[in-house]
Amino acid sequence: MGILNGKTAVVTGSTSGIGLACAQAFAKAGANVVMNGMGAPADIENERAAIERAFAVRAIYSPADMTKPNEVAELIALGEATLGSVDILVNNAGIQHVSPIEDFPAEKWDAIIAINLSAAFHAIRAAVPAMKKRGWGRIITTASAHSLVASPFKSAYVAAKHGIAGLTKTVALELARSKITCNCISPGYVWTPLVEKQIPNTMAARRMRRDEVISDVLLAAQPTKEFVTVEQVASLALFLCSDDAAQITGANLSMDGGWTAA
Ligand code: NAD
Repeated sequence: MGILNGKTAVVTGSTSGIGLACAQAFAKAGANVVMNGMGAPADIENERAAIERAFAVRAIYSPADMTKPNEVAELIALGEATLGSVDILVNNAGIQHVSPIEDFPAEKWDAIIAINLSAAFHAIRAAVPAMKKRGWGRIITTASAHSLVASPFKSAYVAAKHGIAGLTKTVALELARSKITCNCISPGYVWTPLVEKQIPNTMAARRMRRDEVISDVLLAAQPTKEFVTVEQVASLALFLCSDDAAQITGANLSMDGGWTAA
């Protein structure tokens, strides 16, 4: 019997990277999962079906676009209508854009704030009423070391992730008497498509080669000189869903190889 048997988890941005690892870890622990995110339909269907097969749970997929508040609310409604409840919400969908502030495209700013920050607000707002009725809930947002410190050329991302840190604390205080916890996890660099995709722009902004970006920018930030793994982040998210984590709320938990200790 898994610790999440009978529970349903909605994980935004779970077609790839950290979100997919969370969906898999939660399903392994017995939860039904609502997957979400972009990607090739055949690849998404393969991942969804593999989760159902491997863990004997239900896994459904929603293409809800996290830039659209009504689609975020529909994602939560889909979980409740199809799987009976949304007990766990992981706000994980995220994008990045790297550019000097004076060239930063306004539409990239808007998209990053919408997906990385506002979508979490809309999802929490939609999920909380039913969590309160059931008297149990876990809200986890994938923040970032960039919720605590800044790096040049990432104005929108750093602003959004700092916003997540504040939103997490506020929601935790509001829900403190409802047996619903709200926390965020702040990974350092995790080797996922999001990090890979930013390398060309970082090369251009910093006038560096690819290997220099990896060693002198990405891993330079992390004293361990190792990338965090998606499984490590998922494992912490799973722990936050356990009874042992019932008194952890409003926390911003770093998993960054010592980055923000420096
Ligand atoms: P990823 O690119 O592998 O995954 C991002 C997910 O978000 C994908 O499933 C993608 O389809 C989805 N997504 C993007 N735009 C969307 C939209 N409009 N609507 C719905 N889904 C959308 O990247 P990842 O590294 O796994 O990132 C997941 C989260 O972790 C992000 O919030 C990111 O900021 C955060 N994070 C990543 C790192 C890292 O180093 N990779 C570090 C700290 C925090």
